[in-house]
Parts: sequence; structure tokens; C-alpha cells
Amino acid sequence: MGRLYESRKRVLITGGAGFLGSHLAERVLALGHEVLCVDNLFTGTKRNIDHLHAEPRFEFLRHDVTFPLYVEVDEIDNLACPASPIHYQFDPVQTTKTSVHGAINMLGLAKRLRCPILQASTSEVYGDPAVHPQPEDYWGHVNPIGPRACYDEGKRCAETLFFDYRRQHNLSIRVARIFNTYGPRMQADDGRVVSNFIVQALRGEPVTVFGEGRQTRSFCYVDDLIEGILRLMEADDDLTGPINLGNPCEFSMLELAEKVIEMTGSRSKIVHGPLPTDDPRQRRPDISRARGALGWEPTTSLAEGLDPTIRYFRELLDQPASLVGAQRT
Ligand code: NAD
Ligand code: UDP
Repeated sequence: MGRLYESRKRVLITGGAGFLGSHLAERVLALGHEVLCVDNLFTGTKRNIDHLHAEPRFEFLRHDVTFPLYVEVDEIDNLACPASPIHYQFDPVQTTKTSVHGAINMLGLAKRLRCPILQASTSEVYGDPAVHPQPEDYWGHVNPIGPRACYDEGKRCAETLFFDYRRQHNLSIRVARIFNTYGPRMQADDGRVVSNFIVQALRGEPVTVFGEGRQTRSFCYVDDLIEGILRLMEADDDLTGPINLGNPCEFSMLELAEKVIEMTGSRSKIVHGPLPTDDPRQRRPDISRARGALGWEPTTSLAEGLDPTIRYFRELLDQPASLVGAQRT
């Protein structure tokens, strides 16, 4: 194991009750560390972390990162922020606050503790990219006043804050630009394309492809992504990023819909709906930097990752209806 994981650490994971946060918490615990999971349960659920409570090294604190937090930890992974477009557009002002005030509060905490801090940034900082695939030195093409701006610009400002804390306060920072990631524990109703298509196909409902479905995304399985985040945290201090973490295999939404229908054995038909405003037309990470600096690349194909994800949703949909939808407490 690398430098950061040589001894037991107390790791703060904000957004730890969410999809990615709960998987990260699991892996950090498995490495022998303590986890302080901080989450306001806006899009996360207690159900995601139920299985971790039996572990005495795990602790949960219900808290909103837009308010200051005074705790003692050795490392911070800042994941708190709604990630699905319908969730981050539900209360856009709160989304910007979560990214910006949340970053300021967590960076302030890291500064007091002199501990390393990682930011879960996003491919959305590239907006609707004019460069394809997207390398880290591409500055992006973002509409600053559109409905996605609360998320995109919030995350861009958070990156600015991370690099200013590095320059001004010599903080140890890591910025991961995460591309579309999927897997078990996504919410059935969060509107993201993979969960939407799987749930629709399993229910035999029409699969809703927005626009003609020619827009592309590159889907990374959650286990691969978490491995990338852990390697980034273990890396030397001068590896600040930003660093793209994602799977470079690119699919159109129509291809994804067909794959999901085939793998679920569903009779669902594809229907087309309006393309959301500012929906990026293409997205694929250039992961040369992650390959070179972290020796990391995804190893799970779309079919290999869809398989456990479909199984997860199949079991979830068998549960009483109250457990399937949003369960915030
Ligand atoms: P998620 O919605 O499942 O998790 C986000 C978590 O943050 C939830 O548990 C939510 O309750 C919590 N949260 C939201 N606002 C908060 C606040 N003010 N205070 C405390 N907690 C708050 O989404 P996810 O997919 O797990 O995403 C986790 C992080 O990764 C996010 O920062 C997201 O922007 C980033 N990311 C995810 C993806 C992806 O494809 N999953 C892609 C790019 C970036
Ligand atoms: N999408 C779709 N049908 C759906 C949900 C999403 O065709 O039911 C499309 C959406 O328009 C976008 C892509 O799938 O082009 C990915 O959407 P998602 O919300 O998962 O993530 P993001 O746009 O943030 O990458």
C-alpha cells in the first residue's frame, strides 16, 4: 500500500451515504481505516450505509456541508453534492452552495488539520465539449446561465478554490474529474440514464431516449472508479490533478437502451422524448494522465458492469414500493 495508507487513518467522506460515497466508505473500511460519513441525506439514504453500522470504525453524522464542520480527521474526500440532473436542478441555489460553500468549509477544515483533501469534480466542467475526447487541459464549453450551470459552474468554482488553497496555503489537494459512473446503489428514481433505462426495462415500461439518442456518454463501473480515487489519494502530493477518471468506451444513448433491453430480456419499446437544454452531445475521457500517473484504467466492460447493476435493481424492485423510491431518512 502507498504512503497514505501505511497506518490507520480517520477518513472523512462527505456525501458518504450517496452512491459513490457509500462504495468509497466500504473500500476505506476494508483497508482498515476509520470512516466518518457526513451527509445531509438529500439524495443519499441510510439504506446505502445500513450494512456499515456494525463496523465500530464507521460513524455517521447528519450534517449539511454548507455549514462549517469541526471534527478531527486525517484525510477528507469531498463528495457531497447531488449528481443527477433532476436532483441538482431541484434546488439550484442549494446545489451551488453545496459545491462552493461546501468546498470552502471542507478546505478550511483541511487547512486547520493540515490534512490531504480530495474533490469529486466532474466531466461537466467540460460542458458540451468542442474537443473530443476530453483531456484535462481542455478548459471546457459551459453555458454559465443555463439550467445545468448550478452544477457545472459550482464544480468549476470548487476546482478554483482547491487550486487557490494549494497556491495560497500549500494544502495537499487532489481533484478527480469523474465521468458518468454507474452501479448498485444508484437510486431507482434519480433520473440518470443507466438507472432509468434499467428500471424502465425491468418494469416493462417504455425506455425513454431523449432526442434521437445519438448523444454519447462513456460509462465507468463503480468499482473501477473507486479504485482510481484510492490510487489518487495514495499518490504523491504533487499529483494534484485535475485528473480524469472514467471509462473511455463510448456509447450512444440508443446503443445503451438496446443493450439494457437485451440484457434484461425486456419487451420494453424505445420511445423518444425531448432533449434536455444544454445536454452535452458527446463525452469521453482522455485517461492518458491517469494511466501514466496512477497506473489506472477501468477493467470492467459495459456488459460486465450492467450485469450486477441489473441484478441490484431486480432485487430492489421486488421490495415493497416504499423502499424503491426516494427514502431520505
Ligand atoms: P449521490 O447523489 O448519490 O451522492 C451525493 C451525496 O451527497 C448524497 O448522499 C447527498 O445526500 C449528499 N449531499 C448533497 N448535498 C449535501 C450537503 N449540502 N451536505 C451534505 N451532504 C450532501 O451522487 P453520486 O453519484 O454518489 O456523486 C457523488 C459525487 O461524485 C458528487 O460530488 C458528484 O458531483 C460526483 N460525480 C459523480 C458522478 C457519477 O456519475 N456518479 C460523475 C461526476 C461527478
Ligand atoms: N437520457 C436519456 N433518457 C433518460 C435519461 C437520460 O436519453 O431517461 C440521456 C440524457 O439526455 C443524456 C444522457 O442520457 O444525454 C446521460 O444523462 P444523465 O442524466 O445520466 O447524465 P449527464 O447528462 O449528466 O451525463
